[in-house]
Amino acid sequence: MDHMTASPGRRVLLAAPRGYCAGVDRAVIAVEKALEQYGAPVYVRHEIVHNKYVVQTLEKKGAIFVERTEEVPPGNIVMFSAHGVAPVVHDEARRGRLATIDATCPLVTKVHKEAVRFADDDYDILLIGHEGHEEVIGTSGEAPDHIQLVDGPGDVAGVEVRDPSKVVWLSQTTLSVDETMETVDALKEKFPQLISPPSDDICYATQNRQLAVKQMGAEAELVIVVGSRNSSNSKRLVEVAKLAGARESFLVDFASEIEEAWLEGVTTVGVTSGASVPEVLVEEVLAWLAERGYEDVELVKAADEHITFSLPKELRRDLREEAAALVAQRGGSGAAGADSPAPAE
Ligand code: SF4
Repeated sequence: MDHMTASPGRRVLLAAPRGYCAGVDRAVIAVEKALEQYGAPVYVRHEIVHNKYVVQTLEKKGAIFVERTEEVPPGNIVMFSAHGVAPVVHDEARRGRLATIDATCPLVTKVHKEAVRFADDDYDILLIGHEGHEEVIGTSGEAPDHIQLVDGPGDVAGVEVRDPSKVVWLSQTTLSVDETMETVDALKEKFPQLISPPSDDICYATQNRQLAVKQMGAEAELVIVVGSRNSSNSKRLVEVAKLAGARESFLVDFASEIEEAWLEGVTTVGVTSGASVPEVLVEEVLAWLAERGYEDVELVKAADEHITFSLPKELRRDLREEAAALVAQRGGSGAAGADSPAPAE
């Protein structure tokens, strides 16, 4: 491998959009703000987002990640991750006398609300998603008696409903768009009166990242996806790249995981990253490739993204109170800073 030599013909196609979505950005900032506001430790139930680097960085700043609410000592703050939690988890926090901050992505909350509404109307809800994924566990927990999981087209044969005229499908937000439609088609064949969610459950970020990878997959022999192995949307990008025509596609957390052998006979390398991946990790991959002659970088742009979400309401409220206290202090009122955690809701 001719390191450090510009090699004519070799190039990188860089997907846009890639990396952080609005929900991840909000969740990561929420942990950072909570640490600033209340001091360490701040407990986070489940990885705040599915990315090793992000989790390790926040741990260094004082976040403690736990899998079960019971692991958080009473009187502490617990933040719920972007993937959302079932109502029973809110109950657990109340019982454990914990202050909560809910960093569930608003687009996941939207699916929770759809589930509640259809369950109230006594529909059978077919939730398309991956068994065991945190988001699926949270959504299912909103209406366990009405929801059954459909994990791909292969599951459709086994699906039974009470009344075929009252069935709706919903989905996890981070699925492959094409595979989900295959599942929906199979479900519709079985239940012709199946109704669809009022709007897309697969979120804009998942769709846009898949679209960009589809565009590059036809030209790139190799597609490198930066993302963690437990990141659903990152894994989907690997699948979409291969379906789009890439000879190989690999998922890496860090540039150091890329193998030289992957570049054998490769002229064009596609690079993208999952919705929970900070840009610094993509920059390291680009630097690694440039050292091997892949210096020429072309952007493959599938969409513009301008979506942002405001911070969780518990933090907004306390930050507002803190700002008000500071203003009062400066005005000589002597008001104390709001230095207490948000009460459990
Ligand atoms: S991938 Fe989509 S649903 Fe998940 S956090 Fe990002 S915007 Fe929200």
